[in-house]
Order: sequence, then structure tokens, then C-alpha cells
Amino acid sequence: MDRHIPPVGRWKLARRAQQMTHSALRELLKVTERADMISFAGGLPSPDALPLARIVEVTQRILSTDAIGTLQYGPSEGYTPLREAIAERFTRNGSPVRASQVLITTGSQQALDLVARVLIDQGSRVLVETPTYLGAVQAFSQYEPNFEQLASDADGLIPELLSPAQLRGACLLYTQPNFQNPTGRRLPLERRRQLARLSLETGLLVVEDDPYGELVYEGGPLPSIHSMAPDAVVYLGSFSKILAPGLRVGYLIAPEDLMVKLVQAKQASDLHTAGLTQRIAHQVFTEGFLEPHLHALQARYREQCAVMLESLGMHMPPGVTWSRPEGGMFLWVTLPSQLSAFDLFEAAMQAGVAFVPGAAFYAAEPQHNTLRLSFTTATTAQIRCGVETLGRIVAARLS
Ligand code: PMP
Repeated sequence: MDRHIPPVGRWKLARRAQQMTHSALRELLKVTERADMISFAGGLPSPDALPLARIVEVTQRILSTDAIGTLQYGPSEGYTPLREAIAERFTRNGSPVRASQVLITTGSQQALDLVARVLIDQGSRVLVETPTYLGAVQAFSQYEPNFEQLASDADGLIPELLSPAQLRGACLLYTQPNFQNPTGRRLPLERRRQLARLSLETGLLVVEDDPYGELVYEGGPLPSIHSMAPDAVVYLGSFSKILAPGLRVGYLIAPEDLMVKLVQAKQASDLHTAGLTQRIAHQVFTEGFLEPHLHALQARYREQCAVMLESLGMHMPPGVTWSRPEGGMFLWVTLPSQLSAFDLFEAAMQAGVAFVPGAAFYAAEPQHNTLRLSFTTATTAQIRCGVETLGRIVAARLS
């Protein structure tokens, strides 16, 4: 298409770049880095939960035993033993995966970009939950799709409301069935089955983004949509929330015929993910460290989540509702419809409490009376104090 692109500053930017915007979230996180701030804003692991000693020890071991292999260029698909370990874990958990279907990515954010590069054309129909992950909207937007927000409730997507006509011809459906960012909700088993069935019937590709699935605090894990329809799903996983986000190691699992194209996109993007951090993830993953580490994370976050829920119950005025997450990092608050979370944001920041206004998480038509609270980085004392402050600010607006 030959649309006129006006110059921006000195440069005649590509249309794609003109449409890019800063993530409202990342801009906001800068403000919340103030030392005196109680932050419910970022979706970060608790700094106290990063396994520092283990990572230092493993890094030294890798560099003293396999420095050349680590520091040379490696395969675009990723470090083979890590791909094998991921495939083996999925297979052991009842979802047979071959190592050849695993592509290691530079965080799952890169996986979102690769999937978008390979599948989205200008005007492609991309189906998303309401609300959805802002970073996915950002990654997909570069390729200029038309987003369609799908009907969703407190349990997530509502498959009964998806018509085969709507699904047919769409280029992909993006979903996070486990402890969604931003709402914390989890898709029930029957809805996963319905979604898998619908995607097999209509040929629709499901992109199942699952960085929070291992952080389960109540009710045990549920099977992935990938396990129900492996040929119709690209599954995205990450070590960011269970190990350390700064390692930038994630992965995708794709049907073999799509893998070819995803690997070509990966090559064009960064040749391969860093050899050192892939090896660190591999060692930690295979040395029996991950399971106890996960249990410790689950215990810590379960308590923080419970304290936040209890504090909301004590301090929020009538008319305010919130999700009751069974895992993950987030809780979603809905205010009475006359209130906007943006209006509360200023007052909350002045009082030393940060959160993310929910409007940031809609691909279209935002709901302004919503907000996201993360319970992972604040201490339980800070959670009590911060929620009390928020409750006071909301009550003042309602009186
Ligand atoms: N998907 C979701 C739903 C996320 O919340 C995040 C991180 N906030 C990512 C993907 C990207 O994570 P990473 O690149 O660190 O693996």
C-alpha cells in the first residue's frame, strides 16, 4: 500500500515506527522506582526470591568447564541440551514434545515478536482477551493487525460466545490461560477443552502465553491448551518469573511446519539467544534446583496474595470488587463505574503507592474503572499499609 508517510523530525520513518509508542507501563515503572514508594505496579519477581548464590555458582562452573562453547556463536534454535530438557519436562507432564519443536528465545517477549512476524500481515485479524497483556499488543501492533477483543468474564475467555465464523479467517488468537497478566484469572478446564476443540475445528492458531503457570498457589495445575491440541497451538514459556528476568531466556513450542519459519525469523532477529544465560537456565533446570525453588516462590507469593486479599476486604469501600487469583503475580480491581483509575493514580503516587491503571491493558475500548495490583515485590507490611492508603483514597472519591 502506498500511503504518504509524513517526515518525523529529521527522518522519514517507516509507517511501522510511526505507529510505535512507549509502553505506558515501562514509563510508569520508572516513576515507581522511587525508594520511598510502595509499588504494586511492576510485574517483577521479588528481589528476595532471586537465587543469586546459585546463579553465581553455576555461572562460574559453566565458564570454567565450557568457556569456548559458551562464548562462541551457537545454533539459532537454541542450546540443544536446554531444548531437550524442556521437551522432556513437557513429555513427562503428559504433553509429548520433541526437542525439534522447541525454539529458545530472548525472553518470551521475543517469542511474541517472532510469532507476529511470521503470521501477521497488515489488516490481519488478531483475537485477544479483554483485557490482555500490553506487551503482546505492542509486539503485534508493529505488524498492523486489526485487534478484536473477545468476550471474557472473571474466568477468562467465554468459548460459548465465539462463533466459528468469527474464528475462521482470523490469523491467531492470543490467550493466557494461567493467572493472566493483568487480571490474575485462570481459564477453567472445560473452557480450555472448548477452545482446543474450536481451534481444531476452524484451523485457528492459538498462541498460549504461559509465563505464570508454575506459580500456582491453590488448586494445582491445569492442563495446557497445547496438551489438548498440539498441532493448533504455539506455546510460550519463560524463565523470567521462575528464575530471573534479566537472564532473558524464554522458549516457544510450535508445530514442526511453523518452526521452520520461526527459526528463520529468529535468525534475522538476533542469530541466537545468549549462550551463557541459556546454559545457566539449563543447569538450574536440570540439577534438581528448580522444584524446591518453585515451592519457596509459591509459599512466598501465596502469603503475599492472601495478605493483599485480606487487606482489600478490610479497607475497600462497598462497590469495589477484585479478582481472587489462584496463582501468578496480579490481582485486578474494579471500581464503581463513575471512578477512573487514572484519577486515583496521581493521589496514590503522592501518598507513596503505585499501581497500574487498567486502561493500559485493552487492545480497544478501555475500561477506565479498573486497576492492576501486583503482590510480589512489596513486603506483607507494605501490602497492608499500601492497600489501606488506596482504600482511603477510593473512599474519599466516593463520599
Ligand atoms: N507474556 C506475559 C503475559 C508477560 O507478563 C510477560 C512479562 N511481563 C512476558 C510475556 C514477557 O516476559 P519475558 O520476555 O521476560 O519472558
